[in-house]
This record gives sequence, C-alpha cells and structure tokens, in this order.
Amino acid sequence: APTAETRKFEAEVAQVLHLVTHSLYSHKEIFLRELVSNASDACDKLRFESIANSELSAGDSELHIDVSWDPQARTVTVRDNGIGMNRDEIVANIGTIASSGTKRFLEAMSGEQKADARLIGQFGVGFYSAFVVADKVTVLSRRADAPAGEGVKWESDGKGEYSLEQVEQAERGTSVILHLKADEDEFLKRWQLRSLITRYSDHVAFPIRMPVEKDDKPTDEWETINAASALWAKPKSEISDEDYQSFYKSLGHDFNDALAWTHNRVEGSQSFTTLLYLPSQPPFDLMMGGRDERKGLKLYIKRVFIMDAAEELLPNYLRFVRGVVDADDLPLNVSREILQHNRQLDRIKAACVKRVLDLIEKLARDEPEKFQTFYKAFGNTLKEGISEDANNRERIAKLLRFASTKGEGAAQNVSLDDYIGRMAIGQDAIWYITADSYAAAFGSPQLEAFKAKDIEVLLMSDRIDEWMIGSLSEYEGKKLKSVAKGDVPLDEADKKKQEDATKEAEPLLKKLKELLGDRVGEVKVSARLTDSPSCLALSDYEMAPHLARLLREAGQ
Ligand code: ADP
Ligand code: MG
Repeated sequence: APTAETRKFEAEVAQVLHLVTHSLYSHKEIFLRELVSNASDACDKLRFESIANSELSAGDSELHIDVSWDPQARTVTVRDNGIGMNRDEIVANIGTIASSGTKRFLEAMSGEQKADARLIGQFGVGFYSAFVVADKVTVLSRRADAPAGEGVKWESDGKGEYSLEQVEQAERGTSVILHLKADEDEFLKRWQLRSLITRYSDHVAFPIRMPVEKDDKPTDEWETINAASALWAKPKSEISDEDYQSFYKSLGHDFNDALAWTHNRVEGSQSFTTLLYLPSQPPFDLMMGGRDERKGLKLYIKRVFIMDAAEELLPNYLRFVRGVVDADDLPLNVSREILQHNRQLDRIKAACVKRVLDLIEKLARDEPEKFQTFYKAFGNTLKEGISEDANNRERIAKLLRFASTKGEGAAQNVSLDDYIGRMAIGQDAIWYITADSYAAAFGSPQLEAFKAKDIEVLLMSDRIDEWMIGSLSEYEGKKLKSVAKGDVPLDEADKKKQEDATKEAEPLLKKLKELLGDRVGEVKVSARLTDSPSCLALSDYEMAPHLARLLREAGQ
C-alpha cells in the first residue's frame, strides 16, 4: 500500500462540506463543541475497549482533551489521547458518508428546505464544521492498538480532495489542527476559546485543558478549565438550571435550550440514576421520520460510558427524549445482545417511561405554554404510544389534544377529559371524525346531525390519527366512535321519523341501489344529514377512506 496519496471525497461529502460552510456562518463557533465532543467520544471508546484489553491505555491512562492555539501559525488544535483512528477508519469516518442519517440530511438540505443553520446545528454535522472557520484541516491520529510507526496524517482544504500519509506518531489518539481562515482571528484568543468550552462543553466528563497564558502567548503549563464531572451523579441541590442546560448542550445535536428535564436517583436492590430531557424542537431525524438515528440516550455503568442505547432504554414513541442513564449493577462488559434480554434493564426502562410521562403531565398541569410547545413538536410521536404501550395507554391518552367542533379553530388543545366534562347527560360515546385536513374534517357533511344536536366532535387530521384511534377504543369507560361509521345516536322521536321516512322513500332507495350496483353496500335513509341531500358513510367495520388510501400508498 502506498504511504502517501491524494483521494477525492465522496460526492456527498463534498456537498455536505459546501452546505455546511456556507450556512453555518452565524453559528460558526459550534466547531469547537463538535470537535470536543468527538474527542470525548474517542476517550469514552478507549475506556470501554480497555475493559477487555487494559494494554490499550497502558502508560497513559489519564484521558484528557487539550485545546491549544498558536498565534504565529494561526492554528487551533484539539487533541485527545483517546482511541485514535487507523488509516481505514479515517477514510471511512471522515472521507465518506456512512450513515443513512447524513444522506437524509443532504436530501433535506438540497431539497425545498433552505439550508438553515438551526437544522444543521441540531443534526450535528460534526467534524465537517471545522471547515466553517478553517481553510485547511490537518488530522494526525494513531489508533491505540497500532505501533508508533503507523500513525496517519490526513489533510484537506475542504474542497474536493484530501491527502493521506503514513507518519510516525509517538502517542496514541487524535489531533485536529485547524488552519484558520484569514478573518477568524477571534479564535486565536484564549478567553474566547475558553468561554466557548465553558458554554458548550463544561460537563464533558473528561478534563478539557488549555495552556496557561503569559504575555499573550501560550505556555507549556496546562490548566483544566471544565467542570469535568458527571453532572448527573451530583445531588440535585447542587445543580443550577444553567448547569442542566449546559450539560444538555454537551450531549450534542441541539444547541437550543432543553424544554424541561427530570433527574432522579433510585436506590434499592437495584440502583440507578436517570437524567432525561425534553428538547424544545424536533431534532432532525425525527422530522425526517427516521428511526435508526436514535442517539438520544446514553447508557453509563458506574460513570463509564457504555453505549448509545436509546432503543434498549426507551420505547420508540419516546424517541425524542435525550439524556443519560447510569446503572450501578450491570456488568461493565455488557453487550448489546445481553442488554436486549436483561431483566434489570426492563425495570430501568419502565422507570424511564414513568419519569418522562410524569414530566409531560407536570408540564400539562403547571406550564401550559411549555406543554403546547412540547405537543407541537412531539404530539404525533407520542400518539404512537397509544398502540405501542398498552400499559400506559390511558396515561398517554390523557395527554392528547385535539381540534374540536367546540374548540378554538384548528388549534389542537381539547383533551379527552375536556370533552367528557362537556358531554350532555345520556351521551355515552366520544365522537370523532378523521380526515386529511382540519378544513375537510370541519366541513364534513357527516357532522351536520351532530351540530344540529349540539354534540361535540373531535376533529382529527394528523396522518397518524387513524392508526392511533384503532388502538383507542375506549377512554374512561366511554367508547370512542367515528361519526362516519354506523348509525348516529337518535332519540325515540327521531327513530320514529326515520322509520317513516324509510318507508316513504323505499322506491327511491331501490332505484338508487339498482343504479349504483356494487359500488355501494347499501342505500339508507339517514339522520346523519340536515342540509346536504346525501353522503357516503361506512359500516361499523369498514376502513376509513383515507386510511384505505394510506395503505394503498404504502403498497399494502
Ligand atoms: P459523529 O460524531 O456524529 O459520528 P462526526 O462527523 O463528528 O460525526 O465524526 C465522524 C466520525 O469520525 C466519528 O464517528 C468517529 O468515528 C471519527 N472521529 C472524529 N473525531 C475523532 C477523534 N477525535 N478520535 C477518533 N475518532 C474520531
Ligand atoms: Mg461528532
């Protein structure tokens, strides 16, 4: 194999680089957070691999991240003594777009959606953000299990190509050297770098060090500048809201404040700590309907990072939750396979679900505005829980909000409890209609009889509603019924009227049935309408028309 060569980026990488460098301009400082977060991941990985192979960290077991600057050379360097990368890994991780999430990101960014910094920040484009402030980036790396002679030097101007060379590297780990663009001198100032680290990376669990400054120049003396503590392990009383927010940001992938959080320690036969956050906006993968990009929950065992384990710790419908779970009693060398069938983990998962639902309930009760923000962002995801989590169905149903014929326009803010509270004496069902849009639901002729009788109808128009309602047949002992199915509720006088009308209209009904033939099941006189002459209705067991259409679209 050649030791030095020049290679082209994958076409998609070149595109990402272009988009990122052109649209992140107003948030360019996030490059530091991203590089520190990568360095921290690399230290986590080394610590984890060292459990099985202690040789890996021999001789240099104090893991740390060093951020330095060189005013003469105009460089900023982020160095870690973590796991490092070999040649193949550098090519695979930095020259290629491996994850499907990144591909989706690109589709979104180059489509109708404007390349917007908020989106990029949430997605966490990671390493590539270096090119927002640098016109050349050099990576020097050596994997922990490789000899000193097998270091790698990677270098690129972020345009279309990168060079790769085998070099001698005395120490394991990775240095990322940013050659700053001409107008980025602000990042050559210690206080500036320092304040960014404090803002975004204070609770990274490894020491982040900077050289002490003397006469405006960096010296050889290092000083740790972050808290470097596992925030979740501290007592709540010692943690400020700012600490919580700063820790949230250090988890990566969102530079907005979290909406709310819940921090708990469970002591007992099995002890664990959970610190769970609700974001204030949907992260990128959720917006794209992605399910494979769930990096939101990190599993630690006695403060040692084990893996991103969102799936094992939370059900799918709570995939928007971010945070950490730290278990005391799991074996450190636990594997994903073991986790999937672990009874202890089932208990932790149930506790996480309970905490998150408690938190959302508390928002609904005490902070309606925040609850609305939450519901706008994640209400439809939460609805998946109605069918996914039968045990918590009633609790989740209580949190749902809908538009309604007695609500405020299209706003989704009527709860099932609100509805029940307004039900007339004798009404035994919760009526709803599903349609493609609020306007279609609100304007449906199916509602005429209900309006005439002053019966409230919930107006459901989100894509997921039809699926969800299939699993929600009852709430607080009241049946949920579609206005489009079966017969509308009639009192005795109405029934008599309908029977008379049916007799009178018999010849007409017969004629219509003959004309329409197999296209309809039945032609009936109905109490459903007050103004319109006719409408299509479903029998109790038929599929709603737009569900049928959704299934057809999905190729079912
Ligand atoms: P992400 O961190 O979300 O995976 P990045 O673009 O930040 O995406 O990094 C891409 C990959 O490059 C990482 O997943 C990792 O494999 C590798 N990498 C980046 N920085 C380092 C580092 N300092 N040490 C080891 N590997 C790294
Ligand atoms: Mg990263």
